[in-house]
Amino acid sequence: MMRIALLGATGSIGASTLDVVARHADQFRITALSAHRNVEDLVTLCQRFRPQIAVIADPACEADLVRRLKSIDVDARVLSGPQGLIEAAQGGHADCVVAAIVGAAGLESTLAAAHAGKRLLLANKESVVMAGALLRAALDAGGGELLPIDSEHNAVFQCLPHGRNSLADAGVRRLLLTASGGPFRGRSREELVEVTPDMACAHPNWSMGRKISVDSATLMNKGLEVIEAHFLFDAAASDIEVVVHPQSIVHSMVEYCDGSVLAQLGNPDMRTAIAYALAWPERIDAGVAPLDLVRIAQLGFEAVDRRTFRCLDLAYQALAVGGIAPTLLNAANEEAVAAFLGGRLPFLAIEAVIEECLARLPSNPISQLSDLIDSDLTARREAQRIIGSLVA
Ligand code: NDP
Ligand code: MG
Repeated sequence: MMRIALLGATGSIGASTLDVVARHADQFRITALSAHRNVEDLVTLCQRFRPQIAVIADPACEADLVRRLKSIDVDARVLSGPQGLIEAAQGGHADCVVAAIVGAAGLESTLAAAHAGKRLLLANKESVVMAGALLRAALDAGGGELLPIDSEHNAVFQCLPHGRNSLADAGVRRLLLTASGGPFRGRSREELVEVTPDMACAHPNWSMGRKISVDSATLMNKGLEVIEAHFLFDAAASDIEVVVHPQSIVHSMVEYCDGSVLAQLGNPDMRTAIAYALAWPERIDAGVAPLDLVRIAQLGFEAVDRRTFRCLDLAYQALAVGGIAPTLLNAANEEAVAAFLGGRLPFLAIEAVIEECLARLPSNPISQLSDLIDSDLTARREAQRIIGSLVA
């Protein structure tokens, strides 16, 4: 029986994970669940999955959670705040941690799970972008394993041989990450001036949380994923290519030196990647409909429109600069996306905030977590200043 701590249980990845877990009650048990402020949904999940620990990240909601759990006779230990998330990630109640919090808020619990040697199922790509080298070191120190849930990285993982020291050793030439192109593929910059948050969140193929949906619309999601692939697979930026594939059926590919290209295909449903990571090295039913290639009929591929969607290049630039630059990029992006979702910033200004923030701040090397957290805060303040000046 694998015991699972699911952090970010009330989100989109959280729901997909619980769906897979519920199909295999004989193999998996939920021992910890977390939410940010959504007490109501967390209580419903606790009633259904009976975890030992329930974490509410916002301490202001703790008393409400305790009261509501008591009223329905659910006997879970309630924790709160960043320390509560860390405890849920590293405690002896879990063998496996699903890191499905969105944004930098997931960093410390992800690192804690790695340090504690858990099987880490990683959806929270922002923590890899911010702290890829520290995460690698934590995994080495803890002796656990990381299984990527992000569909592209899960696909690459499935197409790579295991037990090799490096990509070169495995004969890999390039990683080819596919991108749907998002809801605005084919549009010009002029057509993006009036874009609203609801338009940006209406993804053609995937149903996801609002932050990652906006990232997909700007193509920053693919930029974050290039950086994620760099750290997860130890791949040089020049060996990671992005190709637009509007159907989202090929989830990514690995090109080998003999000319072979291995791809992982499937319907765009995150339960495939989650089930693969939960059961690895075995395979289990994920509840995903079989792929009907005859109905799909066509798989298309095209180049990224880098002139319209500039965030991808900003991410490659941050990776080339190295050090703290990806952390700054992520912080500026999170602030700009929140401002856009809050109706305070136009869609096309998201990239401008990130570019200006990267230009203004030095990209020091990363030595320890505290430096990184300081830089993250500095970048957020700078991004807020830039947002203020852009909308003044
Ligand atoms: P959602 O917005 O749907 O869910 C986010 C989860 O994180 C919720 O449980 C939310 O709690 C919690 N949360 C939000 N803010 C905080 C905080 N400050 N502290 C603690 N917990 C917090 O996001 P997704 O499920 O879409 O995405 C989660 C992660 O997975 C992201 O990093 C995303 O990039 C990645 N990912 C998602 C994919 C998808 O298909 N959705 C695909 C690939 C990667 P509450 O409900 O209380 O707000
Ligand atoms: Mg992805």
